[in-house]
Amino acid sequence: MATIFTRIINGEIPCYKIAEDENYFAFLDINPVKKGHTLVIPKVEDDYIFNLDDQTLAGLTLFAKKVAIAIQKAIPCKRVGVAVMGMEVPHTHIHLVPMESEGDLNFAKGKLKLEPSEMEAIAEKIRKAF
Ligand code: AMP
Repeated sequence: MATIFTRIINGEIPCYKIAEDENYFAFLDINPVKKGHTLVIPKVEDDYIFNLDDQTLAGLTLFAKKVAIAIQKAIPCKRVGVAVMGMEVPHTHIHLVPMESEGDLNFAKGKLKLEPSEMEAIAEKIRKAF
């Protein structure tokens, strides 16, 4: 059974897409901890990032770097933080979060609920900067 993220890649479930290439895909987290919170995933399904083969992991990191640069251009922030957890969705994903302070990477703190129009506007800004 395909993961929810594979179904997003396949267009079966909608998302606020940021970027895609042959092997990787980036889209906004539906429950962001900060505006611009983005997930970067490999198209190959693997539950655990350190199970990825070296080439896929290296490519994922480089793709995430390009997305992070676009986020920083689009969303004012001190830097883009990186987190990998995978406690909820069994498909490797890197969280990229625009940060002003250390607490912005505290996922237990609560999440934002943004209107679809605002999510789309944020995605569009990051897409344009990519
Ligand atoms: P974790 O597996 O603990 O790293 O967290 C999974 C993340 O995926 C959470 O931040 C969710 O808000 C996010 N998420 C779950 N389903 C979707 C979806 N359909 N679209 C975008 N983000 C999602």
